[in-house]
Amino acid sequence: MGSLRGGEGRNEDGVKVGLPALEVALAFPQATPASLFPPAVSDYYQLDDLLTDEEKALRKKVRAISEKEIAPIMTEYWEKAEFPFHAIPKLATLGLAGSTTKGYGCPGLSLTASAVSIAEVARVDASCSTFILVHSSLAMSTIALCGSEAQKQKYLPSLAQFKTVGCWALTEPDYGSDASSLKTSATKVPGGWQLDGQKRWIGNSTFADVLVILARNADTKQLNGFIVKKGAPGLRATKIQNKIGLRMVQNGDILLNKVFVPEEDRLTGINSFQDISKVLAMSRIMVAWQPIGISMGVYDMCHRYLKERKQFGAPLAAFQINQEKLVRMLGNIQAMLLVGWRLCKLYESGKMTPGHASLGKAWTSSKSREVVSLGRELLGGNGILADFLVAKAFCDLEPIYSYEGTYDINSLVTGREITGIASFKPAAVAKSRL
Ligand SMILES: Cc1cc2nc3c(=O)[nH]c(=O)nc-3n(C[C@H](O)[C@H](O)[C@H](O)COP(=O)(O)OP(=O)(O)OC[C@H]3O[C@@H](n4cnc5c(N)ncnc54)[C@H](O)[C@@H]3O)c2cc1C
Repeated sequence: MGSLRGGEGRNEDGVKVGLPALEVALAFPQATPASLFPPAVSDYYQLDDLLTDEEKALRKKVRAISEKEIAPIMTEYWEKAEFPFHAIPKLATLGLAGSTTKGYGCPGLSLTASAVSIAEVARVDASCSTFILVHSSLAMSTIALCGSEAQKQKYLPSLAQFKTVGCWALTEPDYGSDASSLKTSATKVPGGWQLDGQKRWIGNSTFADVLVILARNADTKQLNGFIVKKGAPGLRATKIQNKIGLRMVQNGDILLNKVFVPEEDRLTGINSFQDISKVLAMSRIMVAWQPIGISMGVYDMCHRYLKERKQFGAPLAAFQINQEKLVRMLGNIQAMLLVGWRLCKLYESGKMTPGHASLGKAWTSSKSREVVSLGRELLGGNGILADFLVAKAFCDLEPIYSYEGTYDINSLVTGREITGIASFKPAAVAKSRL
């Protein structure tokens, strides 16, 4: 390992000023950075016992690959806000793309296996878990659940191996939480459809080969779905800069200017917003497991750090206040794991409602906010360095708190289910539309 790393600046004449930063392990040998990932120690209530042997084996494999392949590079790529394209073949070996889909080269996993595995990726790096979820739980699931037989055969096998990458575009600049009001239009033209409009925040979109675009049918005014291919004339995707979280994920603004989509690439199973609710329900469970994984990683990191770092002649772990914080984090993780696991079981037995999924996503992301914030405190100054994981995790959780339905919107979905009263629109607006 070299002793210096990038970081020297240049003055206005282009002359180098300052010295490159010291390698963090040399500058601060008192505690091990997250590039050498800490052991997993958060399963205090032995929730592993709830998993099948296959689920445990997959979890172990995903944990090992994430720690070996992703941990050493994540700080550098997060800091550069670039995606580590060279890691895609390693992510492919996880065997997660396609998740529960059977056939078409997909792994046909149980939902529980998919969920605990995505948590293992998020434990090490949340950006990589988001990259996989956008590709698999959104783009691939939409094709698997709403595509024709020919579309499944054409697109899923290469997506399953990450030979091609997918993205999924619902959100627009004017329609975030209110996504079902989206305006991107799909107009029938000879031989296919013409798409016009704008999308925002779309993960993987700057380089995706397969773009699933949701648009409003100009005739029926209902939601339709389309597969648009990279390089289609009139399609433009540009990277959103200056994010403070999930910095490796390439989120894009998409412009669609008279983009032609052949009839064969219209997703025949999407004829209303309701038709994508089954995709969103499953995806919301997977997203609910990201905060669980992030919290596990932060706990593991803090557990090691507090034993390595000494102050006042004793390891930080010896101080009562620090122990209480660690225990609070651990308690949250046990509860999150149980909620996440139960959500998977409700889904697998066909009993899960939209309110169940929304409560799970809203609740794990809010509990995880407490865990990462305690972790940030526990590491002192190093709690703001990406090299020690918790600062990165702290920032990565924020977009997760807001995407796949914000905390508030998911709470309102559950609120509607338990009260029978929808409260999304302010009373004044609802009244004026009567
Ligand atoms: C990193 C990242 C990745 C994303 N990836 C994708 C992607 O791949 N594909 C995609 O289609 N979208 C994606 N999104 C978009 C995401 O789903 C939206 O950001 C999200 O739905 C919230 O919309 P908004 O940001 O426009 O917030 P707004 O809708 O403007 O909400 C702002 C605030 O107002 C609150 N609010 C809004 N309406 C109500 C209401 N009725 N009652 C109470 N409170 C309300 C919200 O809870 C929030 O606190 C991504 C977003 C981010 C940040």
